[in-house]
Amino acid sequence: MTRVSDEQGQDLYFIQESRKEDGSFYAILPQAPPLGKERTINVEYAGDKVLEEAGEGSFYVGARTSWYPNLNGFGEHVLFDLTFKVPKRYTVISVGKLQAESIERDLAVSHWVTPTAVAVAGFNYGEYKKLDIPDEITGYKISGYYLTELPSNLRNRPALRSLAPHAMTKYALEQTRAQLQLCNFYFGKLPYDEIHITEQPDFNFGQSWPNLIYLPISAYTDSTQRWLLFGSINDKFTGFVQEVTPHEVSHQWWGHAVGWASYHDQWLSEGFAEFSAGLFLQQGVAGDWRKDYLDFWERLRKRILEKNDYGVAPNDAGPLWMGRRLGSPRTENAYQNVTYPKGAYVLQMLRSMMYDPNEKDKPFIAMMHDFVENHRDRPASTESFKAIAEKHMTKLMDLDKNSRLDWFFDEWVYGTQVPKYHFEYQLAGGDSGNVKLHMTIAQSQVDDHFSMLVPVYADFGKGMIRIGQIGLAGNTTRNVDFTLPSQPKKVALNAYKEILER
Ligand SMILES: [Zn+2]
Repeated sequence: MTRVSDEQGQDLYFIQESRKEDGSFYAILPQAPPLGKERTINVEYAGDKVLEEAGEGSFYVGARTSWYPNLNGFGEHVLFDLTFKVPKRYTVISVGKLQAESIERDLAVSHWVTPTAVAVAGFNYGEYKKLDIPDEITGYKISGYYLTELPSNLRNRPALRSLAPHAMTKYALEQTRAQLQLCNFYFGKLPYDEIHITEQPDFNFGQSWPNLIYLPISAYTDSTQRWLLFGSINDKFTGFVQEVTPHEVSHQWWGHAVGWASYHDQWLSEGFAEFSAGLFLQQGVAGDWRKDYLDFWERLRKRILEKNDYGVAPNDAGPLWMGRRLGSPRTENAYQNVTYPKGAYVLQMLRSMMYDPNEKDKPFIAMMHDFVENHRDRPASTESFKAIAEKHMTKLMDLDKNSRLDWFFDEWVYGTQVPKYHFEYQLAGGDSGNVKLHMTIAQSQVDDHFSMLVPVYADFGKGMIRIGQIGLAGNTTRNVDFTLPSQPKKVALNAYKEILER
């Protein structure tokens, strides 16, 4: 900081200690400002810790939320008006809309304004080329900014050297467009119409800002290139690469269109983004949907339930609602391995229970649109989401006959129980060509109050089709009979792993 002044240009006192101690900045007003009255302060400062060269015209953009003065980071939504001046071979892509561009001597000047109040102001920077793709279905303007050369850390990978940046960018943009269309259909319209997709030199990390997305280079590789690069050795990493684009794109809804009230509610951002990646894989945009979709939910299930070296599974660390407080020396990754995958499972289980054989996802879609609409001007909390879910729940879900979902949220959001299921069935010919299906379903490893609705599927030769839901309460075994129109090849409980089970 070099100077802080008020509206009249009078110097104000400020505090900023050394960067290595407590670099936070505070301005001191001569007296408490009157409530509700707007005030302006001017801040002059400089720094060299935001950009780090990654070679060949690419940069790491660090200090992402702290390079500019702001109140409470993600906690406050404000309008931004930003002007950037950079060496003219480089391009800045910021949040907001580009208002004007010009050249001043050796500097490229760009002016960006956010059309709506946003949580954070970010930018990306590099020697970029630009590629636009139209989206006639949603009307979003999608622009991709890509690097033509590989950053220094990746130049020694021969398999990457042969990749064509333009074609790779087209691939990443098509994935983005497909996910924007899907999210628009399932969740409703975004508060802005431009989406900037930018490449960053990292290989295994992406991030989403209001209408600005950072994708790692790995997200630009298609399934064939991925196989060449990683083979099938590292399931976790191929999973990450498959999920990163749809996950980050969906953060435009989860985190930006809808914020979260406190760390308790961050699962509504990360869990919902994770869920949205699963929704994407289910569409088969990227290949064999049945395999990708099943692998996805199995990957999530394992993350939640697999024990670490101390014999503790992330799920054992505590309820989803605990958020960041799940982490401890004995449960180091519990925050990531509960908030993301279990948050996704909670939404998927609601979707499963709301599924209607005729209307399919329609009731679920209505709930999600309502949720987004309802939180345009206020952050979402676990309870505000629950209220929306209760408004849209089906009759079958009303287990306590009180129009409440306390039972479901107590089990899955405020509790840690996970049921185990055992399933057996017999088929026998019925009258008039019907087939009689007799099922025995057992639920165990839960307390007497634990209830759940679990879907049953049958394969009549065209893949698993949902034939009904079965309600189970406590540690119990139920016998259930269905009549089927013809002989199935197979019958299975929870065939697509949409209910979290041990
Ligand atoms: Zn995320």
